[in-house]
Amino acid sequence: MFWWRTIALLLGFALLALVLQPFLGWSATLLAFLAAVVWLLAFHLRNLDRLGRWLADPAPGTVPHSFGSWEVIYDRLYRMVRAQGKSQRKLSAALDRFVAAGEAMPEGVVVLDTNDRIEWCNPKSMQHLGLDRKKDLGQHIAYLVRLPAFQHYLTTQDYSQPVVLRNLAGGDTILSVQLVPFDSTRKLLLTRDITQLERVQTVHRDFVANVSHELRTPLTVVGGFLETLIDLPEMDAATRESQLRMMYEQTGRMQRLVEDLLTLSRLENGVEAREDRVDATALASLLAGEAEGLSKGRHRVEVEVASEAGLRGNYDELHSAFGNLVSNAVRYTPEGGEIRLKWRVEDGCGVFSVQDTGLGIEAQHIPRLTERFYRVDRGRSRSTGGTGLGLAIVKHIAQRHQARLEVTSELGRGSCFSIRFPANRMLEPQELITQGK
Ligand code: ADP
Repeated sequence: MFWWRTIALLLGFALLALVLQPFLGWSATLLAFLAAVVWLLAFHLRNLDRLGRWLADPAPGTVPHSFGSWEVIYDRLYRMVRAQGKSQRKLSAALDRFVAAGEAMPEGVVVLDTNDRIEWCNPKSMQHLGLDRKKDLGQHIAYLVRLPAFQHYLTTQDYSQPVVLRNLAGGDTILSVQLVPFDSTRKLLLTRDITQLERVQTVHRDFVANVSHELRTPLTVVGGFLETLIDLPEMDAATRESQLRMMYEQTGRMQRLVEDLLTLSRLENGVEAREDRVDATALASLLAGEAEGLSKGRHRVEVEVASEAGLRGNYDELHSAFGNLVSNAVRYTPEGGEIRLKWRVEDGCGVFSVQDTGLGIEAQHIPRLTERFYRVDRGRSRSTGGTGLGLAIVKHIAQRHQARLEVTSELGRGSCFSIRFPANRMLEPQELITQGK
C-alpha cells in the first residue's frame, strides 16, 4: 500500500528526466535523476530513524510528523497509540474498581499463588488472620495461619466445604475459612466471621435443651402416676385424689410453660402491637388486687401513685409485664412481707416499680435475670409455679416500648424491679380513655 507512492515518485523523476534530457543532455539529466533518488533515500532513512527513536519511548504526544507515505504511517500510528491508551485507561479503571471492591468486602479475601504464597489480601482478611500487608506479601500462608485444622485443610486438597477455625491467635473469634481454586493454579482464601452465628446457634441449642428438660420433669411425674393408677386400680380414695391433684399441678406447670413460650415467641416475632392510652393509675390498682389474690393474705400490699399521667403502649403487654413483676414479688417474699407498687414520673419519664421485702438477689445474678430459664433458686422457682421465662418476657415488652428494666436488690432485705418509660410515651391525664380489662 505504501510502496506505490515511492514507485510513483521514482517514475515521476524518470519521466521528468526524459522531458528535460533534450535540453540538459544525458550526463546532466542522469546527475539530476541520481540526486533526486539520493534525496528520496535520505528522506526514507531519516524517517526510519525517527520511527526507531520514537518506538524506543512511544507516547501519543510525540509521534513524528512528515509527508507522503510517512504522513499516512505516522497518522495511523498516532490513532493506534491513542486507542491503546484509552483502552489501557479503561482497563486500569476497571482494575482499580475491582481492587476497591475487594478492599471494601465484608469478608476476608486472600489471593494465593501456585505455591500458596500471599499475592494480595484485603483489610478484612488482615483483621481475621492477623496478616500484615507490608510484611506478609510473598509469605507462605501455612507459616502465618498455624492452626492444625487449617494446615490439614490446606493439604487435603478437598476444598468443597469450608473449615471452622477457633482460637486464632488466642482470640475468641470463630472463622469459617474456604479455599477456592481459580485460574488453574491459584487459590482464593475466603474468611468469614461466624462468631455471632455460632453464638445464636448455641443459644438456640441451649433453649431447645432447656424446654425439653422443663417439659420432661412434669411429664415423667404425670406418666408415673398414670402407670400407678393403671397397675393399682384398687388404690384407696385419699391416695388416688392426692395423685390426681399432683398430676393436675404438673399439667398446669406445662400449660404455663407453653403459654410463656408462645408469649415470648410472639414478642420476638416483632409484630407491631396496638397502641393504647393506658391509665397507669387504674392499672396499678388492678395489679394490687391481683397481688392480693395471689398472696391470699400472706403479705401486705400497698399502692403508691405519685402521678396521674398515663402511658402510650399496648395494654395487654404492659399488664403482662407488670403482672410478672407483681407475681415474682409475691412468690419471692416470705409470709408477712410487704409488696409496694409505685407509679411516678421522674425527669419526664414514667416509672412503674414493684418493691418487696423478700429474699433479695446477690449482685452477680442481677445481669443474668432476664436470660431465658435463668433462676437464682431453681427449687423455689419451681415450687411456686415459675417457668423461668417471666423476666425474659418483661425485658422484651420493655424493649418494645423503648423502656428499660432496672433492678436493685439486697440479699435478705428485698428487691425493687422498675420499668422506666421514655418521656415521649407519657400522656397527660386528660388524654386518657380508661381501658378496662
Ligand atoms: P421464674 O419463673 O423462675 O420466677 P423469672 O424470669 O420471673 O422466672 O425470674 C428469674 C429469677 O429471678 C427467678 O427464678 C428468681 O430467682 C429471681 N427473681 C425474680 N424476681 C425476684 C424477686 N422479686 N425477688 C427475688 N428473686 C427474684
